Amino acid sequence: MKLDGKVALVTGGSRGIGRAIALLLAERGAKVVINYNRNQTEADAVVAAVEAKGGQALAVQGDVSVAAQAQALVDQTIKAFGRIDILVNNAGITKDTLMMRMSETDWDAVVDTNLKGAFLCAKAALRPMLKSKGGRIINISSISGQAGSGGQANYSAAKAGMIGFTKALAREVGSRGITVNAIAPGFIETDMTNVLAEEFKQKALAQIPLERFGKPEDIAEAVAFLASDAGNYITGQVLAVNGGMVMM
Ligand code: NAP
Repeated sequence: MKLDGKVALVTGGSRGIGRAIALLLAERGAKVVINYNRNQTEADAVVAAVEAKGGQALAVQGDVSVAAQAQALVDQTIKAFGRIDILVNNAGITKDTLMMRMSETDWDAVVDTNLKGAFLCAKAALRPMLKSKGGRIINISSISGQAGSGGQANYSAAKAGMIGFTKALAREVGSRGITVNAIAPGFIETDMTNVLAEEFKQKALAQIPLERFGKPEDIAEAVAFLASDAGNYITGQVLAVNGGMVMM
């Protein structure tokens, strides 16, 4: 499952799942643009880790929810490495609270980053992918988008939206050699889940047949598979990587 000669843009590549994706794609041979929003130090550390293994990477700041910045991410990818073959829409945030307490601001922030961000980055990446007659778009959705999650109406809606978006776009661009898929992670150990209460974590763990939380690397392996030639005939699908927490 080599990715030699490929160029990948990973949004939110500075930490957690995005970091693991960037590292694995680079290990498989891709040149990688690591997008971040706030944490330049962490993004630079990912670049350094790629370079230490002989790979090529570049950190680029940009808020995926802002159209001009999403476009600039793709432009800088092409400027640095000449093309874009793989877009991983991974950037995401949560702002969890019960529906009755959820503010419009919290709703907008979560939908704008997770869902609109994926739309904007895919839109920017499509033109060069159509030109080169091929590409891979991989959207990091969530188990919350498949099954819904109490206290996460905004996040569940955004992640479910990403699944509909994935299927619609897959139908539009299949004839042009571009595949579009979603990955739905379960409970993965990152900064995003570290903040959750211990009691909540234990309840979640009890629902996982494989009896462990996921690691960012578990998601990275699925991304690398879909991005490689092994994933040539897969499009419009949702790959659940969740230890069996939800089966559908
Ligand atoms: P994380 O550790 O909190 O990292 C989030 C990443 O997204 C960071 O690199 C962050 O950049 C970036 N980001 C946030 N807002 C951004 C914006 N507006 N523009 C560009 N980048 C932005 O999260 P994670 O757990 O790795 O999650 C990664 C993805 O997987 C998310 O889409 C999340 O919803 C999804 N997911 C996670 C889990 C889980 O259990 N962890 C489960 C299902 C789905 P900075 O470092 O600059 O802030």
